[in-house]
Amino acid sequence: MSVQFASLGSGSSGNSTLVRVGDTLLLVDVGFSAKAITQRMATLDVNPSDLHGILISHEHSDHVKGLSVLARKHDIPVWLTHGTFKKLKDKNLPSVEFLHPHGSFCIGDAKITPFPVPHDAAEPCQYIVGDGSRRLAIATDMGFVTEYVYEQLTGVDALLLEANYDGQMLSNGSYPWALRKRIDGNYGHLSNDQSAALAAALEHAGLQKLCLGHLSENNNTPDTALDSVANRLRRADEDVHVLQRYNSSPWYAVA
Ligand SMILES: [Zn+2]
Ligand SMILES: [Zn+2]
Repeated sequence: MSVQFASLGSGSSGNSTLVRVGDTLLLVDVGFSAKAITQRMATLDVNPSDLHGILISHEHSDHVKGLSVLARKHDIPVWLTHGTFKKLKDKNLPSVEFLHPHGSFCIGDAKITPFPVPHDAAEPCQYIVGDGSRRLAIATDMGFVTEYVYEQLTGVDALLLEANYDGQMLSNGSYPWALRKRIDGNYGHLSNDQSAALAAALEHAGLQKLCLGHLSENNNTPDTALDSVANRLRRADEDVHVLQRYNSSPWYAVA
């Protein structure tokens, strides 16, 4: 079966990723308006009415901005944790499936393994999606890498990894102390250095694609993130990209 993914945009202002496994099309997070999601999906030759399901990682607006409008308009079922649902501002969804963040499940051809992450939301989790052999992991919105997260990510074939901020830019920038502490705390986001250390630890011959995402608009640049991570990797042929904030990527195949 084929596994493919494409970003519809990634950054502190919005996140959304399409994953296609065989005939099953899923959207992980809806961090942009339904209109923007629809337009960007069209550039990838798909339509929201093709979606078999939406997976939500947590209730922050950069992950749920267009959720209820998109799900209602196209009658798409939504998978999320109880904690995330409880904190949603607009709970008027056509169909809700509650997931346990430690339990794998299937939607059509896709096998989904959620894993809990340390982040300042009610019950956040991220996802590994695959066909049972090839697997893509999405790993954003976590203050640090727990042992459990590291175990789950070991051996994945493709990784969409958070590189939120550069430590120097954050400490020299204009953010107030409390906001800085939120970002670099254990329930905030991964820095370029944390991301680089994780990427280096996870590097293996089978890791085909590494996409850096969820970059801060004020405390990072695509070049800074890419340099920090690429410098730590041993393989020179690694396929590393930085995802764009407001544009879709091409489809990437996990072969
Ligand atoms: Zn968040
Ligand atoms: Zn986020």
